[in-house]
Amino acid sequence: MVKESVLFASSEVYPFAKSGGLADVSHSLPCALAEYCDVCVVMPLYRFIDREKFGIKPSEQSFEMIIGSNAYSIQWYECRIEGVRYRFVYSPVLCEKEYLYGPPEAGYEDNAIRFGIFNYAIVDLLKKKKFSIAHLNDWQCALVPLLIKSDPSIRTKTLYTIHNLAYQGTFDPSVMEMLGLDAGYYTLDGIEFYGQVSFMKAGIAYSDRINTVSPTYAQEILTPEFGCGLEGFLQLHRDKLTGIVNGIDTEHFSPSNDGRLIVPYTELKGKRANKSSYLKENKLKGIDKALIVFIGRLTWQKGMDILISILPELAMQECNVAVLGEGENRYIESLESIASEYPNIRLHCGYDETLAHRLYAAADFVFMPSLFEPCGLNQLIAFAYGAFPVVRKVGGLADTVQPIEAFDPKSDGGFGITFEGSDEREILNTIDRGFELYRNKRVFNAILRHNMGCDFSWHESAKGYLTLYRMCRE
Ligand code: ADP
Repeated sequence: MVKESVLFASSEVYPFAKSGGLADVSHSLPCALAEYCDVCVVMPLYRFIDREKFGIKPSEQSFEMIIGSNAYSIQWYECRIEGVRYRFVYSPVLCEKEYLYGPPEAGYEDNAIRFGIFNYAIVDLLKKKKFSIAHLNDWQCALVPLLIKSDPSIRTKTLYTIHNLAYQGTFDPSVMEMLGLDAGYYTLDGIEFYGQVSFMKAGIAYSDRINTVSPTYAQEILTPEFGCGLEGFLQLHRDKLTGIVNGIDTEHFSPSNDGRLIVPYTELKGKRANKSSYLKENKLKGIDKALIVFIGRLTWQKGMDILISILPELAMQECNVAVLGEGENRYIESLESIASEYPNIRLHCGYDETLAHRLYAAADFVFMPSLFEPCGLNQLIAFAYGAFPVVRKVGGLADTVQPIEAFDPKSDGGFGITFEGSDEREILNTIDRGFELYRNKRVFNAILRHNMGCDFSWHESAKGYLTLYRMCRE
């Protein structure tokens, strides 16, 4: 078998920069692939990345790159961690910002040129080094397939992975010129999208293969409900579309080996010590009360409206609730106001990796009322940490959380409570079913032990990507 040489490009990669699951995947998938291929991960060198800590060094002279009629200075950096080579693009316009994409409410106005620079830099690397595959993730690198189409010297094949179709990278048509793009691409079957330029469409139209991060989401995005206006376009390209479910880094998310935990554990009684410590630290009472946790971006997608509407009634039950997230101000304000009224709700605003790990370890339930979910990682982490997922049956949640009614200890997969619809009463009843199960400790713990023993690593899914790489070359 030919050993692929893969350029894996992403706008965020853990541990350098992370806003969500894309960063986790962009770290853990290349690590898993490194067993089978030569992988080089490419990302922007944002100004907040600690160069010294990670041993990031310049790898060549800086140079100027012409895009449209402007010159941008580019400097390549690199480092190597655990068998994976990381290459970083530094350009002031791209990297000298406070946030990755913009403050929570809106993207930066110059994101088209910022990530345009990132795309051109990737193409620069494809010209200098020989890669068999460019694996491009989300809209931030979706122009690459278009750019290499017009350069026959580049023989690299492209796989485009959609991690979230809702973020498309759409910009005013004036960016065509600024990005040096041929006006011929500004068409319905090219990158025009309702009078705007869509980076996402470039990835879909011009890559050799496309995939999403779960099989169910790959089907859902072909429908108007989940297609974000691109369902028709995706249907045109459906022959090259598949879905591969994400895995997690089972070393990073391993309760027995997790240095961020107060008490690392392999057994459920160790988990109780973490719960006790979290409750004490946050002045919450009742070790025997169920602790329900929500972790994630505070956005519409994650079901924030539902969470906020059921929270007051949920808080009247015998339970504690913890919410960790950053996101839209309107949601933060509502959550703050509810949390101030109920002593059994804790709200942690902001991004905090250590607290997230501690919450997974402390939680009895992880609640995910997402309206859509391309894959979702929280439920996989919850399984690993012995927390019981309560999730809407949508996208990757439908693929990875098997309904408890069908519990089978011989199954390879994890079990949780799944629900459909958005009716508040029904969702509260669903959570009640979880509480009932929680009180039946023997059964509840048996399910948690089963879930903790399942394999949520990249082992199988990495092989799925190898198959896709091969298909790109056929
Ligand atoms: P997303 O749609 O945001 O990518 P995923 O479920 O795919 O959601 O991945 C979310 C990842 O980000 C998980 O590792 C989760 O624990 C983490 N995460 C989300 N919000 C926070 C936060 N505020 N602090 C720490 N970790 C977070």
